[in-house]
Amino acid sequence: MKFETISVHTGVDKDDSYNSVTTPIYPTCTFAFEELEKKRRGYDYTRTMNPTRKALEENLAALEGGIAAWATCTGMAAETATMFLFQQGDHIITGRDIYCGTYRMFERCFQQFGLQFSFVDMGDPDQVKQAIRPETKGLWIETPSNPLLNLIDIAAMTEIAHEHNLLTIADNTFLSPYFQRPFEFGVDVIIHSTTKYLNGHSDVVGGAVIVNREDLAERVFFYVNGLGLGCSPFDAWLVLRGVKTLAYRMEGHQKNAMLLAEYLKQHPAVTRVYYPGLKNHPQHELACRQMKGFGGMLSFELDVRKVQPRDFFARLELFPLAESLGSVTSLIEHPWSMSHVAMSEDARREAGISESTVRVSVGLENADDLIADLDQALV
Ligand SMILES: *Cc1c(COP(=O)(O)O)cnc(C)c1O
Repeated sequence: MKFETISVHTGVDKDDSYNSVTTPIYPTCTFAFEELEKKRRGYDYTRTMNPTRKALEENLAALEGGIAAWATCTGMAAETATMFLFQQGDHIITGRDIYCGTYRMFERCFQQFGLQFSFVDMGDPDQVKQAIRPETKGLWIETPSNPLLNLIDIAAMTEIAHEHNLLTIADNTFLSPYFQRPFEFGVDVIIHSTTKYLNGHSDVVGGAVIVNREDLAERVFFYVNGLGLGCSPFDAWLVLRGVKTLAYRMEGHQKNAMLLAEYLKQHPAVTRVYYPGLKNHPQHELACRQMKGFGGMLSFELDVRKVQPRDFFARLELFPLAESLGSVTSLIEHPWSMSHVAMSEDARREAGISESTVRVSVGLENADDLIADLDQALV
């Protein structure tokens, strides 16, 4: 089956009492045993397993080409489960401009348990090689990066990882499996914030861990259940509904993002546009090789001599000033003071983020209306 068909059908059929065409929501904490030691279809307690959540998990595993998936209550919960695959003393190498919440989780939550992290420019495989120590156990890859859309060569990373026996984890939130399939490049674990494109409608927070190895599947399941990270049946149902239109939404996001990037590129009040679909993006060639599309996220630098970020944001009418991304609704934000504020000022500067950086999650409105709104706000 092809992607669009998988997203509509896989896992969905869970009701043989009434044959409902959509997956029912099973809002129950517990399931009665048939008799002593005999569970009905393996279900006993919703923290462990729930049919609505299972439907989403089967769907997400198939979309990424994995063997198993777990749907978690947030993207950070998916990351938490994944971090438990490591042990005290392990060292993990990651990028300098990763999602800010991931950076905070590494620095402030897991360092205290003896895990060590190096933040390097992962666009340069030599920097990754140089950061490897005897205790290095993992590579955490996020591509494209947030907010500057730098790319990491996933195949180059997994090559290094295989040489040094490192576990590779890819955060595939920005492109979704429709545009990028990290398992095809040898990654071990994929994580998602389903809050973003997979759900796609800004009405739920959720996450997912997807694996393609039996040994990892068993361990991730143990931690998702043991730490209590699974999502509610209601949230699973919403994400499953969102996923059914993922392919068509991603095409629409990309089409609009390309039009906005081209428009911004020629605007005199914009000094730089970051979008992997532009031919002048420094890794455009890698984007064409590794991704099936360029996605719906772009960032740009305002020329602050011509327009102040505060005034620009205030004049916009179609772009709510809001964090998050991947929704039908376009969203705009100021990484310096919003999404990336948990990073120290030095860390933000080192990652290339400044007071003039603007990030846009391009939605599914008509591009002419979006461009007209930007146009009146950029004067
Ligand atoms: C939003 C996001 C997360 C965290 O997900 P939550 O659902 O907010 O917990 C992780 N990685 C990336 C790339 C994200 O955009």
